[in-house]
Amino acid sequence: MKKSIGIDLGTTNSAAAIKKVRVEVLKNAEGELITPSCVTVRKRLMRKPEFIVGRHALEWLRQEPEQTITAVKRLIGRNFHDPEVQELIASGRFRCRLSAHSHGSRNSIAIQAGGREFSPEEISAQILVKIKADAERVLGDTVETAVITVPAYFNDKQKHATRAAAALAGLKVSRLLPEPTAAAISFGVDQVSGDEGKTVLVFDFGGGTLDLSLLAISGGQIIEMAKGGDMWMGGEDIDNLLVVHALRETAAREGMDDVRLRALIGRMEPGQRSRFLAELKLAAEKAKIALSDNPEVFLAVLGLLTDEDGDPLNIEAEFCREQIEELMAPMLTAMLKLVRSLLAEAHFTKDLIDHVLLVGGSSRIPCVADALRQEFGAEKVLLHERPMLAVAEGAAILSHRLADTQECPACGKETGQHEPVCPHCGFDLAQHTAEQGLVDIVHAAAHDYFIRLENDQRFLLIRKNTPLPCSSTEVFHLVDAEQELVHMQFYNVVNGREESIGDLWLGIDHDMFSADSKTVSPDAPPRVAVTLDIDESNLVSVRAALVGRPEVKVAGTLSRGKADEKLFLLLERTISEADQKGYSTYTVADLLCRARSIIRLIQQVVDERSGEVNESLCQQIEEKISKAVKIAEAEEAPLTRIYYAESMLTDYGMLIETPLQERIRKKIERLRKADEEGSYEETMQAMEELELLLEHPGLNTAHALTQIENACEICHRTEPDKAKRFMRAAAEVLAAAEKGEEPCFEQLEAIMPEVEAVLDQHASSTQEIHRGIRR
Ligand code: AMP
Repeated sequence: MKKSIGIDLGTTNSAAAIKKVRVEVLKNAEGELITPSCVTVRKRLMRKPEFIVGRHALEWLRQEPEQTITAVKRLIGRNFHDPEVQELIASGRFRCRLSAHSHGSRNSIAIQAGGREFSPEEISAQILVKIKADAERVLGDTVETAVITVPAYFNDKQKHATRAAAALAGLKVSRLLPEPTAAAISFGVDQVSGDEGKTVLVFDFGGGTLDLSLLAISGGQIIEMAKGGDMWMGGEDIDNLLVVHALRETAAREGMDDVRLRALIGRMEPGQRSRFLAELKLAAEKAKIALSDNPEVFLAVLGLLTDEDGDPLNIEAEFCREQIEELMAPMLTAMLKLVRSLLAEAHFTKDLIDHVLLVGGSSRIPCVADALRQEFGAEKVLLHERPMLAVAEGAAILSHRLADTQECPACGKETGQHEPVCPHCGFDLAQHTAEQGLVDIVHAAAHDYFIRLENDQRFLLIRKNTPLPCSSTEVFHLVDAEQELVHMQFYNVVNGREESIGDLWLGIDHDMFSADSKTVSPDAPPRVAVTLDIDESNLVSVRAALVGRPEVKVAGTLSRGKADEKLFLLLERTISEADQKGYSTYTVADLLCRARSIIRLIQQVVDERSGEVNESLCQQIEEKISKAVKIAEAEEAPLTRIYYAESMLTDYGMLIETPLQERIRKKIERLRKADEEGSYEETMQAMEELELLLEHPGLNTAHALTQIENACEICHRTEPDKAKRFMRAAAEVLAAAEKGEEPCFEQLEAIMPEVEAVLDQHASSTQEIHRGIRR
C-alpha cells in the first residue's frame, strides 16, 4: 500500500513521520530521528554530481564547506537581490557562491556547487529524496504523498518553490501545512481544548526562523487566526552570538584586540578559513545545546588558526547560562515585540491567550521559555515533549487524514478513508476516528494580496487572515478600447515591502474582436475579470478573461523568478522602449502581434508542477524578441503586410486572376515561414518579394478596394459621412467589376487621394502600447 507521510522540511533539521494507529517518527538510514538539512554536492568526472545529504554532509561541511549547503530554506523562493540574501552573503554565513540564476530573472537565485548551478528547490529536493528513500526503507513500501510543513509566513513564491522541490523528488504534496499548526496538531488538540474553545499561541523557534501563529481550537477544529514571526531569527543567530563572544574572549586572553584576531582569520587561505569558520560554528552550536542542560560549558577549536609567527592560536571560551542570557537579551526583546505586535494585529490581549505552546529546537533554551512565562504567566506556557519532532508528527496526522485510504488498525489491511467499518475484519473505523479526535483545519491567508493598477495604484484582492480556500473576482477596465495586451502584476506587502508573487499577461487577438470590437466606443474600453484563488495550502492561482468574451482568457501560471519571468521582463522592456521610441501604427501592430505569440510561448517555458525550464524554448523566445526589436527599429511590419495581402485575396480574390492569386499565396507562405523560422534578413528578403508582386498591374482594382475598405474602417467612427461615401464608391466599383464591366476609374480617381490621405495619416501616426488596467 502506497504510504502518505508528514515531512518537516526544516531550515536546520528535517524529519518524517507516519500515522498508523499511533504517530511514529521514522528513523533515517543513519538510525537518527532527525536529518540535518545539509547537502554536499560532489563533482564527478563525466557523470552527474553526487549529493550527500544529512549527517554525512555535515561531516563534509568541515572538508568542503564551499560545496556544502546548509539552511537552503533561507534561500528558497527568494531572489539574489533581496537585502536579506545580500546580508547573508556579506555575513559570510553562506559558504557556497550565490548568484542570480543564469536562466532566471533578477528575481531568481542560484547556488554554485560541485561545478554546477542549482536552484534552491533542486537542493531542497535532494533532502526530500533522502527522506523519501529512508522512509521507504523503514516502511517497506513506496511513499507517494506527503504533507510538507512550511513556515506560516512563507509567501506564495516560497511555497511554490517548496512544492516544486517535492515534485522534483517525486512526491505529491497533499497539503503545505504551516509549521505552528502542525505543532498544535501534534500536541494533541484534545489536550488544549475540550468542548469549549481555546486560544493557543504557537511559538516555534527553530534553527533559522521564529514562527508565530495564533490558533483558535474548538471541538477538534483549528482555525488559524493570525501569523507572524521573523524568518531571519533562529538558533543559527544564537550560534553566531557565541562565535563572536568566543573570538572576543580569545582575543582578550591573548592580549590582542578583536581587529587583529579578525585580521588573522581574514588572512587565512580561503579553503582553510572556511573550514575554520565551519568548525567554529559547529562548536558554538554544540556549546549552546549543552548549555540548555548544564550551567556551564566550554567551547574550543584547536589547532586551526595560527598567529603572525605561525604559532597555534586556539579559540577557547567558557560560557555560563547568565552569559548566554546577556548575549540573547536584544533577541529576547525583539521576540517579545513580535509576539505583542501579533496579538495587537489580531486584536487580542495577553489574558485572552489560554496556552503558549513552545516548539522548535531553540525553544529549549531556558531563557526563551522564561521570557514567555514572564509575559504570559508560568501556567500558560507548555513545552512540547519532543520540540524538534512536533512539526513532523503534526504533518503525519494530517497526511493520514487527507489520504484516500488508511490502514485498518485492527487487521492492517487497506480500507477507504471514510469507510465506517473495515470491510476485511469488521473493525469499527468510525468510532476509532472519533476517539482519535477529529482534526479539521481552517487555514487563513498569510498576507494581503494586491494587483497593480494604472499609475502604480494598488488594489486589494484578498485580505490577510481571510479563511481559506478563498477566491476573489474583480472586474477592471482596460486603459484603452483597442488595447491588445494586458499586463497584470500581483504582489504581497510583507513587512511594509512589496513582494512580487508574479505577473500574468493576456494577449487580445484583434481577429477575436471582429465585428463588434469596431463598435466599441473609445469611452468604454473592454473589461477584464481577474480572479485570484488561494487554496488550503495558501497557494495562489490567477485567472483573467475578457468580460463578454470568455474565450479571451489566461489562467494559472504566475512567473516566479524563473526563466518565464526573465522573458516577461524582457518583453516588458521591449514594449516600454517601443513606447518611448513612438513607432508608427503598422510597426506597432506588427510588434503587438509578435508580443501575443511570444506571451503564449513564454507561458509554456516552465513546467508548472516541477518548475523545470525548457531551455531550448527559452532560447527560441529570446531570438524572437530580438528579431521583433530589429523589425520594429527598422519600422517594418511583415505581419501586417501578410494580413493585408490575405484580406485582399479573401475579399477581392474574384477580381484577381487565378495564377496571380496562386503566386501571391506562395509568397505569403514564404514570408510567413521566413518570419517564423528564418533570420531577420531572410524575412526582409521574403517581404520584399511579396511587395514586388503586390505591385502587379493585375491587382490595381483589388488594391484600390482593399485600401478604400481600410480607410472606411479607420474613419467610420470619427468621420462617418466620409466613411459612407467611401463605402458607396467601393460598392459601385465592386458591382461593376463583378458584372465584368470596367470600373469607373473617374470615380476612383476622385476618391483615392482622400482615401490615401486617411491611410497615410493613420500609418504615420504614433501609437502608444497600452497594457494597464484601471477601476
Ligand atoms: P529545529 O529547526 O526546530 O530543528 O531547531 C534547530 C535549532 O534548535 C538549531 O539551531 C539547534 O542548534 C537548536 N537546538 C536543538 N536542541 C537545542 C537545545 N537543547 N538547546 C538549544 N538549542 C537547541
